[in-house]
Amino acid sequence: MTMPANTTDKLPRNDEAPANRVTSSKGIPKKTMSNREMVERTLAAVWHPCTQMKSHETFPPLPIVGGEGAWLIDADGHRYLDGISSWWVNLFGHCNPKINSALHEQIERLEHVILAGFTHEPVIALSERLSALTNHELGHCFYASDGSSAVEIALKMSMHYWRNIGQPNKTRFATISGGYHGETVGALSVSDVALFRDAYAPLLRESIAVKSPDWRDASEGESAADYAVRAAHDLEQLLETQMAEIAAVIVEPLVQCANRMAMHDPEYLRRVRVACDRHGVHLIADEIAVGFGRTGTFFAHQAAGVIPDLMTLSKGITGGYMPLSVVLCRDQIFQAFYADEISRGFLHSHSYTGNALACSAALAVLDIFESDDVLSTNRARARNILAASQPLQDHLRVHNLRQTGMITAFDVQTDDPLFSRRYHFAALEEGLMLRPIGNTVYFMPPYVITDTDIEHMISGARRALLSTLA
Ligand code: PMP
Repeated sequence: MTMPANTTDKLPRNDEAPANRVTSSKGIPKKTMSNREMVERTLAAVWHPCTQMKSHETFPPLPIVGGEGAWLIDADGHRYLDGISSWWVNLFGHCNPKINSALHEQIERLEHVILAGFTHEPVIALSERLSALTNHELGHCFYASDGSSAVEIALKMSMHYWRNIGQPNKTRFATISGGYHGETVGALSVSDVALFRDAYAPLLRESIAVKSPDWRDASEGESAADYAVRAAHDLEQLLETQMAEIAAVIVEPLVQCANRMAMHDPEYLRRVRVACDRHGVHLIADEIAVGFGRTGTFFAHQAAGVIPDLMTLSKGITGGYMPLSVVLCRDQIFQAFYADEISRGFLHSHSYTGNALACSAALAVLDIFESDDVLSTNRARARNILAASQPLQDHLRVHNLRQTGMITAFDVQTDDPLFSRRYHFAALEEGLMLRPIGNTVYFMPPYVITDTDIEHMISGARRALLSTLA
């Protein structure tokens, strides 16, 4: 495939003498291909995710050759602050020395071994430490490689649990409107994003969506907590009437990230926990995007003081280094599978389950949380981001500036269907990587972002806004 002649002209900067070219201490960029050549070759060879490939004729992908802390570096040496942690995965910066060294050490010993019938130190240590972080309320870590697979596992585990204890009719799932849990068929079945679902509708199982506690839907004068109580009522009614067939409710605690950073009060989770207990339904906390300190507490559900029955983790678990996901469950669930009959067991597997390299990256991440007092430093960082963002609200078309922990978002009033992409490119021009969802601009930076970086991020976001809306 060849590209239209003008495609690479749309790259944020041209190939020659970039004004802000910076060569890092590591010698980045080590120029093997130019931006232009990489764009041409990627469009011919790679099918990029979540993309209408034809749109790259107008909006070409950006070739990245290096990363350093909160910054990404392209083939021409331009630097971009990673304002979205590379799809919400990066926690402690790109090429973090501690995670690098943990990986170097592990790769000299063992890169991977089948986890059925075998085990290894990193997977044991990681499982013990994750369980300890839930106060040992959850454990029995079951690993996979991406978030969607973890969601599949949690759904299958829940349904199979009910079957094993003699309630085979509990096979349905309740979800929250606007919720997002991944792209595989099971995960998409419990997701509520029409654009992603519609083409695959014939493959999907029907789930039951209840009102989202998104505080933007609150009535005039109604607090976020009051609205959470009202939204929870919808779920309570559903469980009351359909508890016999519902296995679990799946929730993204505190922030439905893909639903344009819809935030809710922790009271919602408390109400859901009570309703699930009352009606004998599992609560699955999908913490793939919100776990690992993203919303302020280590796990988001901890802000509500509740404990889910199953929890899915991925993204930040390896600090954005390696694909790894895990499901933790209550002991009671594990025990329902523990039997002499093979068929009562959880016979699910993935080739890379418990990959030793990925587990060692995850252990390095937990070490950093312990040694650097990350959660309290993040509280100060989040305050700075919110304070720096206040002037954005002076723009008449900016609404609902909001923050939960290290996630900050605002909505832009616009009818432009291309707003998101145009804003993304305007931000790149400012040396900033942002990727609005619809008309919602959000900041979800790595936890190593400095005060100077914050200033760069917010002022770049403001200039990108002005140029996009001009
Ligand atoms: N659950 C949530 C809450 C997510 O945000 C995502 C990904 N954005 C997923 C599941 C799916 O994870 P993955 O893309 O790794 O399959």
